[in-house]
Amino acid sequence: MPLPALSPDTTDFLAEKHLMLIDGKWVPAASGKTIDIVNPATEEVIGTVPAGDAADIDKAVAAARKAFDTGPWPKMPPSERARLLWKLADLLEQNAQQITEVEILDNGMPLNHAGRMAVPLAANMCRYYAGWPTKILGDTIPVDPPMPGVEVLTYTRKEPVGVVGQITPWNYPLGMVAMKLGPALATGCTVVLKPAEQAPLTALIVAELVQEAGIPDGVVNVVTGYGETAGAALTAHPDVDKVAFTGSTDVGRIILRAAAGNLKKVSLELGGKSPFIIFPDADLERAIPGAAFSAFFLQGQNCMCGSRLFVHKQIFDKVVEGVAGFAKMMKIGPGLDPETNIGPLISSEQLSRVSGFLAAGPKEGATLVAGGKRVDRKGYFVEPTVFANTNREMKVVREEIFGPVTCAQMFDTDDLDAVAKLANDTAFGLVGSIWTKNLAIAHKLAARIKAGTMGINTHGMADINAPFGGYKQSGWGREFGKESLDLYLETKTVVQHM
Ligand code: NAP
Ligand code: MG
Repeated sequence: MPLPALSPDTTDFLAEKHLMLIDGKWVPAASGKTIDIVNPATEEVIGTVPAGDAADIDKAVAAARKAFDTGPWPKMPPSERARLLWKLADLLEQNAQQITEVEILDNGMPLNHAGRMAVPLAANMCRYYAGWPTKILGDTIPVDPPMPGVEVLTYTRKEPVGVVGQITPWNYPLGMVAMKLGPALATGCTVVLKPAEQAPLTALIVAELVQEAGIPDGVVNVVTGYGETAGAALTAHPDVDKVAFTGSTDVGRIILRAAAGNLKKVSLELGGKSPFIIFPDADLERAIPGAAFSAFFLQGQNCMCGSRLFVHKQIFDKVVEGVAGFAKMMKIGPGLDPETNIGPLISSEQLSRVSGFLAAGPKEGATLVAGGKRVDRKGYFVEPTVFANTNREMKVVREEIFGPVTCAQMFDTDDLDAVAKLANDTAFGLVGSIWTKNLAIAHKLAARIKAGTMGINTHGMADINAPFGGYKQSGWGREFGKESLDLYLETKTVVQHM
């Protein structure tokens, strides 16, 4: 069957020469260099974006600095900032078809995920943050007077931290941009955003909509470019007050070092290697598809990927067979095909990385139960893969693969401390899940696992209203929810001797 035709808006967008937004103007990189954008389902170049570097970051930071220090944005009435964020959400929805199609072509994600999860969630995030500017409150604090007879008024003000550098990954491009811009704009910060070079196109559409919404020039600047040049310049820049990063743990460490120069604030959302734990009494009609979906969603290029599957001995074979059954049934193909469950990996580099893990599993003694190889067609497709008989020593169990691979391990104990020990045997701590009908066990175990989000009979159900982030090497700080605002606010204490 031929793929559905692209909308005229998408065709027009793809035909444009893409530029970056700095200080309200669309500009090429100062160097004139560009980066090819590849459709991972076809391996075809579908456009180029400017290869911004330190020179462009300098200009963008200067624009954001000016917009913060002397522009209207931080002083704007909160209800007006709220209105503009709400408008941005409306514009995302009005352009949903184009944005969804561009996201699929750029990133490869299947339509049945992109349709539900790209624009609807990004718009929802903007609306969530539109609710905040009017509710950012300080406290009045009763303090002890320095001497008898003196009266003191002490209160706190929550002030925007300033110019924020934001760096996003390619796995969920539009959502990442929305979840970064939302709290920064709600609090009155100004932004220089560097999207991942592998999938930067929807960030550029968002930049157009930011302008159309009427958000003042210089408040949001988008510089496309490589992490090693543009990203590094942004994180080291002395005029940037805060960096918010989502990406790999290794790059997170580099960013931390770069930020040390002016001790800018840093928040990090990093990798994961999440435990998915199934007890014998679990409802397997839900747990088995849940395990398959958690591992293979977005081709496993998902920080919440349920990549360590711990199954009780009594049901181990049944679960592994069931998850493997889903893996074999899933339809692999281009994201634009509405029937596709598994799209391509993002790039040829990611394909070789994941292929390395697919080869390492059996070499280290894991049993291949489903998948295990590249799909013989154009595009960066690999089969959803299930390994059984895995253990803590194996590379496939220790490292984040960021591909559609799950590693099943058997457990044979009712001791919750022992189960928690297995789950916690990782450098990461982003999410985890427990599948059982016994809620006492579920809540006791949820308290013992070191992860930012624990699911009970669900996995990775992240929602913008609730905090999200990592323990251990999965990150610093919490995005989403009220806590995300703290990442973008300074607290000032004002004391008056009355
Ligand atoms: P990545 O390689 O760490 O890249 C993330 C971003 O950092 C990209 O924009 C990248 O630029 C940039 N970057 C690379 N080197 C840099 C440097 N030296 N200085 C500043 N910026 C630099 O990660 P990825 O491969 O795009 O994404 C996958 C990773 O993200 C996985 O580990 C995954 O778990 C993590 N992730 C975490 C969450 C979460 O919420 N915790 C969510 C999604 C993904 P380029 O454009 O050059 O790539
Ligand atoms: Mg990268």
